[in-house]
Amino acid sequence: MHPFRSLPSIDSLVGSVAALLDAPHAVVVAASRSVLTEIRESGVVVDHATCVARVVSAVQCLLEPTLRPVLNGTGVLLQTNLGRAPLSSAAQAAMQHATGATAIEYDLVRGARGERNRHLSPLLAHLSGAEAGIAVNNTAAAVLLLLTALGAGREVIVSRGEAVEIGGGFRIPDVLRQSGATLVEVGTTNRTYVRDYAAAITERTAFLLCVHTSNFRQFGFVHTPDKRELAELAHQRGILLIDDLGSGSFLDVTQYGLSAEPTVQAHVAAGADLVCFSGDKLLGGPQAGLIVGKSSLIDQLTRHPLLRALRLDKTSYAGIHATLVSYVMQRAVHEIPIWQMISATHAELSHRAGTLQQSLGHPWQVRDSVSTIGGGALPTDTLPSCALVLPCSQPDAVAAHARGLHPALIGRVKDNAFWLDLRSLMPNDDEILLAGCRLLAESAAIRE
Ligand SMILES: *Cc1c(COP(=O)(O)O)cnc(C)c1O
Repeated sequence: MHPFRSLPSIDSLVGSVAALLDAPHAVVVAASRSVLTEIRESGVVVDHATCVARVVSAVQCLLEPTLRPVLNGTGVLLQTNLGRAPLSSAAQAAMQHATGATAIEYDLVRGARGERNRHLSPLLAHLSGAEAGIAVNNTAAAVLLLLTALGAGREVIVSRGEAVEIGGGFRIPDVLRQSGATLVEVGTTNRTYVRDYAAAITERTAFLLCVHTSNFRQFGFVHTPDKRELAELAHQRGILLIDDLGSGSFLDVTQYGLSAEPTVQAHVAAGADLVCFSGDKLLGGPQAGLIVGKSSLIDQLTRHPLLRALRLDKTSYAGIHATLVSYVMQRAVHEIPIWQMISATHAELSHRAGTLQQSLGHPWQVRDSVSTIGGGALPTDTLPSCALVLPCSQPDAVAAHARGLHPALIGRVKDNAFWLDLRSLMPNDDEILLAGCRLLAESAAIRE
């Protein structure tokens, strides 16, 4: 007899699974078909109970949320693959509050259509010192919008050292081409002077574009012009200076031992006509791209047809608003997770690690580690940190086991051990962290 003759029929499989699961008939039928096909293709015969179990798990996989919560023990504070900035409680509450019908584009006083932009523009202006602001879907969208609205059909001057790729396929020369603007590269890879920009300005020039080099740094024989001098040059010649800050920050990071990263307000004060920066990097809010600058230019962006394709939804507006309020109220360091992570001292982390280790006992250990900011911000800077470390003979297997926990625990494998860096883990999650660590110690012991 052909071995697959013993496989259950679709009908009997569907019947068995339907008795176990509350799922629509069509879903169970489709899952049963694909499981039977897989089994036939694998050439390995399995019994009826195994077939049923595989269909049940296929149906559950389809219906379960795939956006699983994770505890980020990587030590990289803004992990793009883990959703970048964790949101403050205030931002979470505000987003929750905006899930129903919300006056996103409705003026409640006049009882008529209102302006979406009024929710964020005044706060962005207050914090940046610019006249107005606007929010779009992300920084890539912000750059595309301002290039299209203000540069299409004209020339945009960029330093050779700043015609960079940010990651995830976002490359300045490609975005420029997409926008319909023509890239004019000036200077050299390592040194660009104000006079290089000056020599390239023609009647076709729309603006000078400065781009934060985000994920990489140049050292040694390098020169970038002073922003004030560039702004003066642009304004003398009747063009604009636009600055893509990437992460950007409203707070001075040097107070936490990080190297100087100019703030949004410093770039506005230096004379940039428009400055764009991210909502979910060092700002610490939901995904967004923020643009601040001259009202007349922000108005032009607001009226551009592309904005319709790039605009934010109501919950993101609410989350960004709450995040900006934390800055206005000068509570950002206490309320916004990314700033709590950055401002934690090594002594605090060490104390927290000691308490956790005492509760866990052997074989968990405490070791010093090193965190990074991530998200393209301050790529060469590190912050001293502490980690819970599980020495084991098969750390990759332990890491895989950790990823399967609920919530998933993401750590690092180094020196024959599994590391969980405490700086990127929020103290609120320590109870769940302990439960996960206990399971991991058991699984590591079984593997020894
Ligand atoms: C991160 C970054 C971007 C893209 O930001 P997203 O919000 O991910 O779209 C663009 N420009 C610079 C300089 C960046 O650092």
